[in-house]
Amino acid sequence: MATIPGKLSVKLYTTLLAEYLHQYSLAPEGQEQVALGEKVMELLRSSDNEYCRDHALLLCDKLKFYDGKLLLWEQAGMYEELLSWYAERGDMESLLAVCARKSQQYPRLWCSALKLLTSSTSVSAPDPQHLMTCLTNIEQKGLLPPLEVVDELANSPHITLGQVRDYLLRVVSTHSATLSTETARTQQYSQETTKMRDTIHELRTSATQFTATKCNICNNELELPSVHFLCRHSFHQHCFESYSESDSDCPVCLPENKKMLEVIKAQVLVGKDD
Ligand SMILES: [Zn+2]
Ligand SMILES: [Zn+2]
Repeated sequence: MATIPGKLSVKLYTTLLAEYLHQYSLAPEGQEQVALGEKVMELLRSSDNEYCRDHALLLCDKLKFYDGKLLLWEQAGMYEELLSWYAERGDMESLLAVCARKSQQYPRLWCSALKLLTSSTSVSAPDPQHLMTCLTNIEQKGLLPPLEVVDELANSPHITLGQVRDYLLRVVSTHSATLSTETARTQQYSQETTKMRDTIHELRTSATQFTATKCNICNNELELPSVHFLCRHSFHQHCFESYSESDSDCPVCLPENKKMLEVIKAQVLVGKDD
């Protein structure tokens, strides 16, 4: 068997390819044809020239050498074309194999696969195992919001609720868990807000007595000059001055206040996004 050198000139490459393909198309089905097919594949694998690839694609298409066409598509990164090709022939195993092979680089191929599996024009129901593989990948990689997935599933006249029951249950339970965490947090914030409002009201309407006897920084007896905050934290002036980051904030309450301000800021940003 002739060996193919690593780099051929473009002209030699196309001539050789045309010759091999011609021989392939004339050969009777069997061992001889398989061997010729292998020769063509070897030649195709050896080239990374784009011009050669376009020319080779034309030749493979014309002489119906489909293995070669698929290899060239893969080399050219034409994965959507590959998926459609397999879907048209009902070869879902190969279709999902492309998705799995390219999952790292092109995760969105799983969305295309779902579209093809649930296509309204397909004549039969998708294999439940194939559908699950697709849905699991879409879910794990967060590729589509569940509502869009349900939309896609609804396209297919063949898919029943039972086939996608596990997926739906999983999505619903994840969402209700998030929802209850959020609800608990909202309740906590609203209780804290009420408490704060009461305190503010009290501070506005009644006199405040500063009864602290110890400095909240050094914990020694308070003596003049001292600094008092409405949150009822008191400090020696020298403790306050050496410890505090800001003149107007109570150093004990500052970390908590900062946290609160950040939460409020985040909420405002979320509100703007909506
Ligand atoms: Zn002190
Ligand atoms: Zn304070």
